[in-house]
Amino acid sequence: MNRIKTAIVGYGGMGAWHGEKLKTLDDIIEVTGTYDIKETRQEASKKAGFTPYPSFEAVLNDPALELVTIATPNDLHKPLAVQLMAAGKNVISEKPVTLCLSDLDEMIVAANKYGKLFTVHQNRRWDEDFLIAKKLVDENALGNAFRIESRVQGSRGIPGDWRNKKEFGGGMVLDWGVHLLDQMVMLKPDKKITSVYAELTYVTNEGVDDGCFITLTFEDGFKAFVEVGTSNFINLPRWYITGENGSAVITDWDLSGKITMVSDWEKRDAVPVATAAGLTKTMAPRTEETIKEYSLPKVTSDVRDYYRNICKVIRNGATPIVTHEQIRRVMKIMEAAFKSSETNTVVKEII
Ligand code: NAD
Repeated sequence: MNRIKTAIVGYGGMGAWHGEKLKTLDDIIEVTGTYDIKETRQEASKKAGFTPYPSFEAVLNDPALELVTIATPNDLHKPLAVQLMAAGKNVISEKPVTLCLSDLDEMIVAANKYGKLFTVHQNRRWDEDFLIAKKLVDENALGNAFRIESRVQGSRGIPGDWRNKKEFGGGMVLDWGVHLLDQMVMLKPDKKITSVYAELTYVTNEGVDDGCFITLTFEDGFKAFVEVGTSNFINLPRWYITGENGSAVITDWDLSGKITMVSDWEKRDAVPVATAAGLTKTMAPRTEETIKEYSLPKVTSDVRDYYRNICKVIRNGATPIVTHEQIRRVMKIMEAAFKSSETNTVVKEII
């Protein structure tokens, strides 16, 4: 395959991440250069071994360039993507693709009009913690799973850059919620979501949300709960999944955790637990002979498969892993979450 000539626009934290990953794919991709409005980032690009383009127009006008990854603040994804596609470039936008569904639809119209690949970097589909959670649900490892909880929690508020300003597309739903919701859509891609309930938090910020609690109900009754927190000084597990015969915890990104399965449903006798104000059998822990503990399954992944797929789409007409339909579903869920939080209601929409 002759190498796909690729540029990166927006060479900040994530632009540099793309640059380093692409260096390891130099058998299929050639980075022709990067562009950033900040001189310091143009210099950083040079130091990393790339050639900065002198302007965005230079990117648009480079006839050899086939693919551009946009890694600027969120509000710029749409205008830059549309200009790039009009100039004949295939486009990867960083997440969130843009700020609302109507903007996204304009991007999709441009992709169809100019006949270009347009997709989003939903890289957290390759996170191993997510892949373990998906495997447990797909393989009915806990019996029929009926609830999953996915949390990311920090304690430093929102980073003090563009992420805390509404006009730049800041806020944690758009920043982290988009990853967790995309994972939930991919957990059960064939099942529709029938309702969304969300509470957004404003602990450290007023202009944009600094966290969220979102519950999705799937058409089969399965519930998915997503939490993003930025004022959490003790973290809850990254994932909690529970099914009819067992529960699983994935504690952290280090993939620690365990599965606990019931081994004897019939033995329900429990030694009551005495609390300060009474007894409980219902909430007493199970006795050891009625449960079994297992390690989490192993999975492997390589996030570079994202770019490998992009190359196959451009060269061989393969289907992109991240499709317009999936991107639209995630955007619709985020819009429903904003509406639910504003109106304090369950949004009953088929998504
Ligand atoms: P950042 O602030 O570190 O970098 C953004 C860069 O864009 C800055 O260097 C800025 O100078 C540059 N920029 C601004 N306007 C520009 C323009 N008109 N043309 C060219 N460059 C311009 O932010 P970041 O953390 O790198 O985030 C960038 C994007 O990547 C965001 O959309 C963010 O959501 C996304 N992101 C994705 C992941 C992921 O895991 N997929 C992780 C982090 C960030």
